[in-house]
Amino acid sequence: MRKKKGIFLDRDGVVNRRRVGDYVKMWEEFEFLPDIFDVLPKMHEAGYVVILVTNQRGIALQLMTEDDLSAIHEAMQGELARRSGHKFDGIFYCPHDNDSGCDCRKPRGGMILQGAEEFNLELKESWMIGDSETDIEAGIEAKCKTARIAEEGTPTKGMIRGSDLYEVWTSIVGGRGVIQDSKGKIQNGRM
Ligand SMILES: [Mg+2]
Ligand SMILES: [Zn+2]
Repeated sequence: MRKKKGIFLDRDGVVNRRRVGDYVKMWEEFEFLPDIFDVLPKMHEAGYVVILVTNQRGIALQLMTEDDLSAIHEAMQGELARRSGHKFDGIFYCPHDNDSGCDCRKPRGGMILQGAEEFNLELKESWMIGDSETDIEAGIEAKCKTARIAEEGTPTKGMIRGSDLYEVWTSIVGGRGVIQDSKGKIQNGRM
């Protein structure tokens, strides 16, 4: 069977607002960034399997439990489906601490490799998108393409850089076509 292409998305700082110096420990602390509602349907329409890969060290630090995280992700998926008609195809998380030596915590590529295995994805046609350089390093380790969300001028080993998820997505598809909004209108930039 022909392998599919995937997009691996970091969560905090990409899908939802990052809580500086803290963790999202409950649904009330989860604040969506607006681009995901526009971009997730476009990723699916372009034929990508979309998978979340997130470090959740707050579990190792006992600030939250795996059940708390599951409840957050269930609510997130419900809200995505309600507002965009789409949700993530898979969610992988690392509950371990920095020094655990696991191979799932980014900058290691374990979650990406696991996702590619489970969903039969061709890594060299797949993307890792994140707002930290450790996301890029994880993508490089897993041998997929990489895109960094960061301010202009931020040094990165990522293949492309954009200020937000929408800009990154526009660059990813930019080479081979236009972006259409839900009414079929052709857009060259932000809707
Ligand atoms: Mg992040
Ligand atoms: Zn881990």
